[in-house]
This record gives sequence, C-alpha cells and structure tokens, in this order.
Amino acid sequence: MTTRNQEYDVVIVGGGMTGATLAIALAQLKPTAKPWRIALIEAKIPQQHSQSGFDGRAIALSAGSIEALQSLKLWAEWQSAAHAIRHIHVSENGHAGRVTMAAEEFQLAALGYVLELSVAGQQLYRTLPTYLNITHYCPSQLISFTQSEDWVTLMLSSEEQLTTRLLVSAEGAHSLIQQQLNLPVEQYDFSQTAMITSLVVDEPVCGRAWERFTANGPLALLPLGENTYSVVWCQSPEQANENMRLDEVDFIHRLQQMFGFRAGRFMQCGARALYPLSLRYLPQITHHRVVLLGNAAHQLHPVAGQGFNLAMRDIMTLRAILQHAVDPGAYSVLQQYRQQREGDMQRTIGLTSSLATLFAEPAFPLVVTRQVGLMLMNHIPCLKNGLVQQALGHKS
Ligand SMILES: Cc1cc2nc3c(=O)[nH]c(=O)nc-3n(C[C@H](O)[C@H](O)[C@H](O)COP(=O)(O)OP(=O)(O)OC[C@H]3O[C@@H](n4cnc5c(N)ncnc54)[C@H](O)[C@@H]3O)c2cc1C
Repeated sequence: MTTRNQEYDVVIVGGGMTGATLAIALAQLKPTAKPWRIALIEAKIPQQHSQSGFDGRAIALSAGSIEALQSLKLWAEWQSAAHAIRHIHVSENGHAGRVTMAAEEFQLAALGYVLELSVAGQQLYRTLPTYLNITHYCPSQLISFTQSEDWVTLMLSSEEQLTTRLLVSAEGAHSLIQQQLNLPVEQYDFSQTAMITSLVVDEPVCGRAWERFTANGPLALLPLGENTYSVVWCQSPEQANENMRLDEVDFIHRLQQMFGFRAGRFMQCGARALYPLSLRYLPQITHHRVVLLGNAAHQLHPVAGQGFNLAMRDIMTLRAILQHAVDPGAYSVLQQYRQQREGDMQRTIGLTSSLATLFAEPAFPLVVTRQVGLMLMNHIPCLKNGLVQQALGHKS
C-alpha cells in the first residue's frame, strides 16, 4: 500500500559523496522566506560501506574543493582525519623525465588533502540529521518516476510516493534516471583495472605523493599517515586479477619492483579491492525538471584524482544558481546550470583521459614527446602553473 504523498522542492537520489554533500549544500540556502525542503534517498545503509559510495577508497581533494567544503562548514570536521599533500613527484617507469611540485612554490600550505571515503561518509551521515529541512530516506530506492509540467512524482521501494519540483540524480554510474529518460551515454573502456590498498613503508611519508606512469597504467601513492600511503595501481584486468591472488609478501615485492625504492622499503599492505575503469559521461546532463551530477553525469579515470573534485564544482554551481531561484526545476535554472558546467566537464574529461591513454602508449615518438613534456613542465613555470591550477580545481 502506498503511503501519503510527500512534497519537496528538491529530491536527490543517491546519498554517496555527491548526493549527501549536495543535500547539505542546498539545505543551507534560504531562497525565499523558507529554506528548500529537501529529500535524500539512498539505497544502502551507511554501515554497508563496502557496497555504498563510502568504501575503502581514499581520495585526493584539490585546494578548490577544500575552499568549497570550508564554505559549506564541512571541512572543519573532515580536516582532522585528512592528510596534507605537500609535494608531488610525477615520473615515468624506465625514463628520466620527471615533474616535481611543492606547495610552497604556489604559496600554499598544501597542494591538496587525502581523505578516506569511509571517514567522510560517517561525518556526512552525522551532519545530515542536524538539518531539519532534509528528510533522509535510507535504506530506500527509487523505483520509477513520472514528469509533469510542474512536478516530478517518484515511487520508492519503501512504497512512499514523493513529489518534487527538481529531481537530482546523484546515483553514480548506474543511474535509473538516466536509463528511464533514455539519455545518451558516451563510453570508453580503458582496459584497465584500478587496485586500491594501503601500504606501510619504512620511511616517513612527510606529505609526499607519487604518480608513476607505467606501460600498463599509472601507479599512485598518496599520503595516508606518518608511514602509510594509499595506493591506486592501474593495470590490465589480467594483471590486476593475478596480483589480487598473490599473498601479501609476493604482492609487496611486485609492487616494490614496479615502483622502486624512492619512497622507502614497502613493509605491509591492507586489503586489496579492484575497480574496472571506464570513461562514462552524458553529453546531456539535464531534462525536464531533472539534473544529473557527480558520477551519474561523469565517471572518470582516477589518474589525476579529479572525479569528486569535478562533482564538487557541479555541487557549488547548482547551489549558486538555486540561491536566487524561485522554482528550482524551472527550465531557465537548468539551462543556466548546463551552460555553466559544460566547459569544465569537457576540459576535465579531456585532461584525465589523455593522461590515462598517452602514458599507456609505448610508441617511440610518444615516449620522447612525453619525456620532453615532463622535463619542460619542470623547468617552465607557466606550463607547470597551468597544470597545477587545473589540478587544484581553480580552473572551472
Ligand atoms: C580507484 C579510484 C580512485 C579515485 N580517486 C579519486 C581522487 O583521488 N579524487 C577524486 O576527486 N575522485 C576520485 N575518485 C572518484 C570518486 O571516488 C567519485 O567521483 C565519487 O566517490 C563519486 O561519488 P558519487 O556520489 O557521485 O557516486 P557513487 O559513489 O557511485 O554514489 C552513488 C550512490 O547512489 C546510490 N544509488 C544508486 N542508485 C540509487 C537508486 N535508484 N535509489 C537510491 N540510491 C541509489 C548508491 O547506493 C550510492 O551510494 C576515485 C575513484 C576510484 C574508482
């Protein structure tokens, strides 16, 4: 039996990093006399971290995302659990070219911060109930929806029926909303799988992050503690499966062979998990009273750590536009959002995809070009500055 109809200004489907952050960002707005009434629908209960948007990953947050999180009053809580990146070292396996970047070159305290998703998830789910204008349906799943001129009506697995003036999909890459609207999807399979794990080393980490390009994909070590790194190792699916089967000692040995000794001797690793990698994005991110953002709109290769940082810019743009909107689902609102997000989305997709594919290409002229590129980048400040500004999230 369906319970009575509940009415909202904005319903967000998907309570992962994007959806939960967006709910808080919009709950703070007071566009008219009253704040927006917001519903957040999440299929998985937060304790099931390994199955929800808050699993064992640690992600790098850019300086731009930190500024945005500060303005949402979320950063103060997260900062104590975050690890500063003060120095980045980029190199290619088997070649001499390299780029180094230090926070002080850019007059910054840190180039970014690394945060475990499980920590961010716990803090977001503790903050959500403090906003009285957010109703959290969890666990509950969107089953179907219909659009009319002024409303979208949703049916949930919990048999509730909701109506809203704006429906937001923050459902990640498997979006029922995208499927039901039959929105076109652009997809590219990188034929790579990311393995994530944590790694204890015998040298202090000192805020250093390492990105090493190998013939099979990039390998990143991000600071996660005094002697601990978070590892993202992109490899062919066959190699990733083979490395998954190795015992800890053999796995650490293989990882050390691939990376070398510049970060110290590898001592121990944590649980390993695999993520098949593909680029997936929607050329059309809005529909009648519907908008898609975060991974529902763009799933990127993790090479440059841009996925959530791009989602954070989606969130802040939608927030800024809704600040002055009377009807959050009006055509003019969604058109403005689309126009403001298209350029940044295309640039970020282009940057991450070309990095992921360029360094996987073994052809001689390309090896020379990227080696020269890395060396030039290190010695020509404006080149390096341009790349860093994009990575810091200051270019949108
Ligand atoms: C290996 C790896 C490393 C990464 N590193 C970085 C990094 O360093 N920096 C960075 O910025 N990004 C990074 N990313 C990307 C980042 O993790 C993602 O962009 C971000 O977590 C996406 O969050 P999301 O909320 O948009 O989607 P998701 O995390 O997929 O969340 C979607 C949520 O929606 C729920 N849901 C789905 N459908 C429904 C429905 N019908 N009803 C109700 N609920 C539903 C799901 O249960 C889920 O909780 C990395 C990604 C990977 C794989």
